[in-house]
Amino acid sequence: MRVSVEYRTDLVPGQRHFECTNLRALLDTGACADRWQRAMDPDMERLITCKRCPIGRQHHAEHHPELQDTARQPERAPVCVRCGRPATRMIGGEICPSCFNRAAEAKRGYNARGNPLRDYVDPHPHRVGVLSSDGSQGWRLFDGQHFAESMARAVRAGLRLSDKQPGRSVWNAERQQFEYRDERGRVLLELEIGGHIEYLALDRLHPGDVPAPVTMPALLMPPALVVLWLEISGEGDELGVDWHQTSFACGQCGQGMVHAYRALDGIHVRCSGGCC
Ligand code: SF4
Ligand SMILES: [Zn+2]
Ligand SMILES: [Zn+2]
Repeated sequence: MRVSVEYRTDLVPGQRHFECTNLRALLDTGACADRWQRAMDPDMERLITCKRCPIGRQHHAEHHPELQDTARQPERAPVCVRCGRPATRMIGGEICPSCFNRAAEAKRGYNARGNPLRDYVDPHPHRVGVLSSDGSQGWRLFDGQHFAESMARAVRAGLRLSDKQPGRSVWNAERQQFEYRDERGRVLLELEIGGHIEYLALDRLHPGDVPAPVTMPALLMPPALVVLWLEISGEGDELGVDWHQTSFACGQCGQGMVHAYRALDGIHVRCSGGCC
């Protein structure tokens, strides 16, 4: 869809200027197109506003039609499980150098300039539903700043994801919280053993017993539906021209994360597990 922009053509002959509201500056369309192109470089974090900008994409298409003819081949580099961006080098096969450095700074308590870190989320364990090779259901803990990171770590560990929950979610008015119940209505307790979660059904709780917390199931969606969701939710507007990890695991195979990028002909998706 074309974004409507008001242009001035009276400033420099042969150039069109417009007011970039994001940068609060009067720019010519060529400068905007260049900024947008540079913003696609994963190392240009300071140009993040341009990367997500549909006006920049539009101007780039006008100034560089030769680059639009064939769908640009996105980077084949692996994608960071945390920030979701591709990087040619991964630390431990999972984290890009930028996320690794942020984690090191967080551990140290300050960044390269000596300032305390803001907005850093410590990775914490998320419960992820997985199927073992014999098809039996289990739940495992994987660290992540967000749930997608934990799911990505689970599939990279070679596990198949499952969105099954350990029981029915029932509201307990007395405790003012949801809890899991089995088919006989017994409340479930959670035991963690070496990163694996086991559930125990009890007829009644004893003092000190805490019901298992109700958490989100694995977000599995067939890649074709992820395209629709990205379009409808507007999250697809934030995609660039390189593969980016989405919040969804692949509902087709359960063994990969859905990656997406945006080209002129729309959003493209793939499964990191290789099923599509
Ligand atoms: S890409 Fe968008 S934010 Fe960047 S200069 Fe162009 S209009 Fe402004
Ligand atoms: Zn990263
Ligand atoms: Zn898949």
